[in-house]
Amino acid sequence: MPNDFTALVLNSDDKDISVEIKSLTESDLPDGDVTVAVEYSTVNYKDGLIVDGNKGRLVRNFPHVPGIDFSGTVEHSDSPDYKPGDRVVLTGWRVGETHWGGFAQRARVRAGWLVPLPDSISTLQAMAVGTAGFTAMLCVDALEQYGLGPDDGEVLVTGAGGGVGGTATAILDARGYTVVASTGRRELDGYLTDLGAAEIIDRDELSTAETRPLEKERWAGCVDSVAGTTLATALAQMKYGASAAACGLAGGNGLDTTILPFILRGVNLLGIDSVMQPAESRRRIWQRVVDDLPLGKLDAMTAVRSLADVPQLATEILKGQVRGRTVIDVNA
Ligand code: NDP
Repeated sequence: MPNDFTALVLNSDDKDISVEIKSLTESDLPDGDVTVAVEYSTVNYKDGLIVDGNKGRLVRNFPHVPGIDFSGTVEHSDSPDYKPGDRVVLTGWRVGETHWGGFAQRARVRAGWLVPLPDSISTLQAMAVGTAGFTAMLCVDALEQYGLGPDDGEVLVTGAGGGVGGTATAILDARGYTVVASTGRRELDGYLTDLGAAEIIDRDELSTAETRPLEKERWAGCVDSVAGTTLATALAQMKYGASAAACGLAGGNGLDTTILPFILRGVNLLGIDSVMQPAESRRRIWQRVVDDLPLGKLDAMTAVRSLADVPQLATEILKGQVRGRTVIDVNA
């Protein structure tokens, strides 16, 4: 590959954040023991926060290359764990926040952050999964570790039109669960049914301020990427001993609930973090993704765009306007 490569670069003049696509050289890359020829990245909710004005000040040093995920092929390695030509995927570890990320044709990172890509999944499909899909798999895995099985009853997925929710819906359906998908975009009903939702409910049904501390028991499990009143309502409706996996805050970072679901129904609230998952867990979860996520459904929920589209996509994902997953072809 030539020494020059194209990257999306974030700049700050202490007042404003600006984004430009420009040519960099390998000597610009940060330290690391593996250099990857990036093929695909993706736009996650956190990428939206960073690219659309660096909300939450997740990035502190500029210039910065965002992109919290990437997949590609090892180009150079000082690590015994990787050799040129190996296919790899990276999510999390605060890459794209504190370390340059995947919105570039080249990335240099620590070997320990990479996961070898299983043979049966392409680099494009790996980014269709990305942090969102990896997190959906972590949620399902956690629910099952807490005893959830397909015969236990309905599993609620909130924010189902988004990346985590769509992937969770497809995985749960493939594993034989009865999925109830909650969405604020009823125009997505057909899409959610195709992914595997047995029933679709309106987001408003769960985001009512009039929720009682305990409501009629309904959910055998829940994958929640919304938080706020949505999660509070879901908790009040969980079956005895059931678990909710909470991974997101698309509806705000508050959670106004009571202790009653926990102490009267033995409900479990499972916190899910994808960013700092240990390496061993990552390899296991990626293998589960390959085993449990029907790739045809993944393809159906994925759009492929270019680096130039990232700023607009960042704005759209924060407004909840992106359907499913968006892969970025950094070479397009
Ligand atoms: P998306 O934007 O793709 O999906 C979020 C979905 O939430 C939207 O599509 C929308 O679904 C719903 N939503 C948006 N705004 C609201 C609102 N105000 N009230 C209720 N529902 C809303 O994001 P992702 O799926 O990629 O991520 C979802 C969340 O999970 C984010 O908060 C993200 O930061 C978090 N996350 C956390 C991770 C972790 O490691 N813990 C990893 C990955 C993501 P619909 O239109 O169908 O209602």
